[in-house]
Amino acid sequence: MIVPKCRLCGTDLTQTFVDLGMSPPCESYLEADRLDRGETFYPLHVRICSSCLLVQLPAYLSGEDIFSHYAYFSSYSDSWVAHAKRYVDGAVERLGLTEDSFVVEVASNDGYLLQHVRDRGIRCLGIEPAANIADVARAKGIDTVCEFLGQATGTAVAAQYGQADLVAANNVFAHVPSIVDFARGLRALLKDDGTVTIEIPHLLRLIEDRLYDTIYHEHYSYLSLLTTQRVLAEAGLTVVDVDELPTHGGSLRTWSMPTATATEPTERVAKVLADERAAGLDTVEGHAGFADVVSAARDDLVEFLIAARREGRTVAGYGAPGKGNTLLNHAGVREDLLSYTVDRSTFKQGMFLPGTHIPIHAPEKLAETKPDYILILPWNLREEISAQLEYARDWGAQLVVPLPQLEVF
Ligand SMILES: [Zn+2]
Repeated sequence: MIVPKCRLCGTDLTQTFVDLGMSPPCESYLEADRLDRGETFYPLHVRICSSCLLVQLPAYLSGEDIFSHYAYFSSYSDSWVAHAKRYVDGAVERLGLTEDSFVVEVASNDGYLLQHVRDRGIRCLGIEPAANIADVARAKGIDTVCEFLGQATGTAVAAQYGQADLVAANNVFAHVPSIVDFARGLRALLKDDGTVTIEIPHLLRLIEDRLYDTIYHEHYSYLSLLTTQRVLAEAGLTVVDVDELPTHGGSLRTWSMPTATATEPTERVAKVLADERAAGLDTVEGHAGFADVVSAARDDLVEFLIAARREGRTVAGYGAPGKGNTLLNHAGVREDLLSYTVDRSTFKQGMFLPGTHIPIHAPEKLAETKPDYILILPWNLREEISAQLEYARDWGAQLVVPLPQLEVF
C-alpha cells in the first residue's frame, strides 16, 4: 500500500482517525437504469497526522471531479442567505468598509453573499469554480471569475482587479485538497492590512456530537482552530479572532490578517484553543476513541433495524441528504432493512441512494404505506421535521433519529 502524505506538512499518514469503509460519492444519486451496472466506491478512511495533527481524508476524488459541475445553489436555502446577510452586515461594521473598499469571496456560488455587499455599494468579485453556478451569479450582476483558487490564481486575480480589504472563504476551506496552496491564494488576494474570514465545521463539535455522517469525499480536512492556525501560518496569515457559530452542527469563523500587520489575538481565540486542549485535540492520543464511538452508534442503528424487521414492523426513511448516504453505507443498510426514503426535492424523487440503492419517493408515500417507524436521516433538523411529520402519529408511527444516539420518540 502507498502511504498517503499529510497535505499540510508532508508526513506519512500512518494513524487512523476513523475508517468508514468504502462508499460512493455521497451526492451521486442513481437513475433506475443505473442500478444493474457497476458503481465506483472510494475509501472513507480518515487519518490524523502524527506530526501536525491535521485530521484529513486523502483526496480519493479530485476537487475537479466534484466541484466543476456542482449542483448546489446556495440561494435555494433561505436560512443560508440570511446567515450570509448577517455576516456581511457584521463585517462591514467591524472592518469599517466603505464604498472605496473591495471584497472578494472565494467559492462565491450563485452570489448569495456578494449580493448583500453589492447592495451596500461596495465593489466585489466572486471566484467560483463551477461554470454553471458562476453564470447564475453573473446574471445577477455579480462579477465572477470561474477558477479554482491557488497561489497562482490569487496572484493573477489580484493583479487584474486589485487586492481586497476583505476576503471571505465560507465553507470552502475544508473542501479543498491543496489546502496550503489555497491559503496562499487567499493571502495573494489580500491587502497587507486586509482581513480574511474562513468558516469551517469545527472538529471539536464533530467529535463531541458524533457527527460522523459529515465525513464524505468532498470534505477533505476536519479542522480545529489549532490546525487552522497551522495551515494559515504557512501562508503568512495569523488568526486574530474567532466566532463560534451553530451552522453545520457547530462551526468556527476565523478572522485572520497578514502576520506582519496582525493585531493581538482576542481572548476568544485563547478560549477556543483551551477548549480544544481540554478535549485532547493537542495530542494524537486525544483523538483516539472516536472510531469506537462510531462503531457503537452503527451497532445501535443496525440492531434497531433488525429488531424491527423481526417483529414484522416496517421502517421508512425521511430525507435523502448526502450525510444519510455516509450513515447507511457505513452501516450496510439495504432495502430489506429500510424499504424506502422520501424527499421533498423533486430532483431526487424517483432516484435511488448511491451504494445502498434505497428508492427515494415523494413524501406522500408515507401516508400511503403507513410505516411503523420513520427514520429521520437529516437528524440535525429533528425539531423541524418532527413537526412536519405530526400527521404520521395518526396511524401510530414513531419517529427515530440515528444520532447523536439512536432515539425512538
Ligand atoms: Zn501533518
